[in-house]
Amino acid sequence: PLYTASEKRYDTMQYRRCGQSGIRLPLLSLGLWHNFGDVNDLTKARTILRTAFDLGICHFDLANNYGPPYGAAETNFGRIFKKDFAPYRDELLISSKAGWDMWPGPYGNFGSRKYLIASCDQSLKRMGLDYVDIFYHHRPDPETPLEETMGALDQLVRQGKALYVGVSQYNAEDTARAAAILKELGTPFLIHQPRYNMLDRWVEKDGLLDTLETAGVGSIVFSPLGQGILTDKYLKGIPEDSRAKKDGRYLQAGQITDEVIARVTKLNAMAQRRDQSLAQMAIAWLLKDKRVTSVLIGVSKATQLRDNVAALDNLDFTAAELEEIETVLK
Ligand code: NDP
Repeated sequence: PLYTASEKRYDTMQYRRCGQSGIRLPLLSLGLWHNFGDVNDLTKARTILRTAFDLGICHFDLANNYGPPYGAAETNFGRIFKKDFAPYRDELLISSKAGWDMWPGPYGNFGSRKYLIASCDQSLKRMGLDYVDIFYHHRPDPETPLEETMGALDQLVRQGKALYVGVSQYNAEDTARAAAILKELGTPFLIHQPRYNMLDRWVEKDGLLDTLETAGVGSIVFSPLGQGILTDKYLKGIPEDSRAKKDGRYLQAGQITDEVIARVTKLNAMAQRRDQSLAQMAIAWLLKDKRVTSVLIGVSKATQLRDNVAALDNLDFTAAELEEIETVLK
């Protein structure tokens, strides 16, 4: 059945400017790391994408190795895109990345020009796109000169294969260096993608958000729900239908300790008092910092997406609430 996007798709979502760029991002964006591989139910995946777009989520985030197997999320997204989203290409901001292991041998990983250019070409083929809106270097590579990696991103923009560039998982120091190199090259450094959630606050300690603000670069924060830990789903054990049970590649049951659950239980009670779900509170808590341009969620079903987007109904915190959260997280 042909998809027609909801006419109300921009009515309720809020958008925030990404650094000092011309781009505004939805407060929530959708990532395809999980749930879009060949092992997944692609009917569900298609429904998730349609639901997201209907709710004003016009940014979809991918990477070369999302699956499993590697490449599959891009291929599956490309098929769905062709059927459902091709008429909406100009309404969508689509990103991909290279930086983790993708193919065998010395040229399928890390940060060489050779790897990034080839991988971007592959990603475009898999997705059936002429260009991506953002192309990221996925993680810092301690061995490749930053000039080479940034030069590759610059080349992709000049070739018209990417409109903007970004980096992921770079610390503040490397980010400042990257920003200086890209500025010199005249390359549009749009965005940084770090992990940030209530249980992982390295960006605050490292000064990354300050560095980004100074450089005029926005941020989109990944695993805002700690892969599901910051929801009510693990409060009474590990459900069959959960990432910790089904997948185990990146979220292992062992990470969900009694100590973690004790904190999450307290946060959940607070969220209830705020009349929202814990997932919603965890998202709102990140968005209270205006330097966080967008929160990059994953979902295994469309109902989770609706739940998460309803975070917009209550984004405000009192000073007392913020203090209480600090006490729980201490
Ligand atoms: P989240 O922290 O949002 O975790 C998503 C998972 O949490 C879902 O798959 C689902 O798991 C569960 N969940 C989500 N909403 C709810 C809800 N309302 N109620 C209950 N459970 C819920 O993010 P991800 O870790 O998935 O990361 C999001 C995106 O960030 C990725 O898709 C990717 O685009 C990007 N990313 C980037 C990285 C990088 O290095 N740059 C690394 C990792 C991610 P379940 O299956 O259990 O239902």
